[in-house]
Amino acid sequence: ERIISQEAGDQELSFEQSLRPQTLNQYIGQDKVKENLAVFIEAAKLRQETLDHVLLYGPPGLGKTTLAAIISNEMGVHLRTTSGPAIERPGDLAAILTALEPGDVLFIDEIHRLPRAIEEVLYPAMEDFCLDIVIGKGPTARSVRLDLPPFTLVGATTRAGSLSAPLRDRFGVLSRLEYYKEKDLKEIVVRTAELLETEIDYNAAVEIARRSRGTPRIANRLLKRVRDFAQVRGNGSIQESLASEALELMQVDRLGLDHIDHKLLKGIIEKFRGGPVGLETIAATIGEEAHTIEDVYEPYLLQIGFLQRTPRGRIATPAVYQHFHMEVPAE
Ligand code: ATP
Repeated sequence: ERIISQEAGDQELSFEQSLRPQTLNQYIGQDKVKENLAVFIEAAKLRQETLDHVLLYGPPGLGKTTLAAIISNEMGVHLRTTSGPAIERPGDLAAILTALEPGDVLFIDEIHRLPRAIEEVLYPAMEDFCLDIVIGKGPTARSVRLDLPPFTLVGATTRAGSLSAPLRDRFGVLSRLEYYKEKDLKEIVVRTAELLETEIDYNAAVEIARRSRGTPRIANRLLKRVRDFAQVRGNGSIQESLASEALELMQVDRLGLDHIDHKLLKGIIEKFRGGPVGLETIAATIGEEAHTIEDVYEPYLLQIGFLQRTPRGRIATPAVYQHFHMEVPAE
């Protein structure tokens, strides 16, 4: 398990639950997304209508589930939560939809993993708030239309590109979550420290924020580990030097890169003169699956400009050489 994994571990979920902001005002950063949602929520409330369906997309751990809960809270309705892989048959979805109360928010995480047959049940539900159910088989089969209460579907996905066009088109609001700025992550660290009743100084919060890969989930996780360290080795409060020392021990470097990032980047530099080198070749060299590299390791390295994707393969940029205090090879 990487400490900088963007995915949540099973044991982490209740910790995360306790930290979730409840209102848009408490939700730090993502200003554009927040501003838009605030207007749409306000307008829907003024018209006493349900909110349009919302699609949230972006990397894991940036706060999609949190936003879904905030939307239901701001609208004053219930939140029902499920996920693409959990809905196996059309009947599963029908059971969920018919149990909704008027105005409810239905949150479907990993919505790109819904089977196509189930997506088709969702179309009339999203568009006309009804379900077409087929009763019977063969020549006597007939379709019955069932009315549903109006509801808001909030879909979350890490891959907006894998969503089918007909499904994507049925969302009225599309919001893309970005990696967080350092100053927003710092605020998140300070807020979490307050909730954990832990003292932290400004520079220590900056230090944790800087190494959190733009991701609140990682910021909170690193803070929790640094707090353990402060309790055992210090007096419980977190100062900059203690934070840096703890983070070094966790092998998370100043940019939030760990040994796997180092292995990948150094592999490209040392074995392939910085690239371009194909994904499959990198995968074979470091003993990982190509899709894991593409989905898990690479996005942040691309984001910070350490890797470039070209038609001929991946290239390590001069920033990588600088980071490792290495000389950029001559052309
Ligand atoms: P996944 O797609 O992996 O489920 P997610 O995008 O749904 O991830 P969340 O579970 O909503 O992410 O957020 C992860 C943690 O980060 C939560 O504990 C949440 O409280 C915290 N968090 C996320 N965004 C913010 C924010 N803007 N302000 C404060 N805390 C946040």
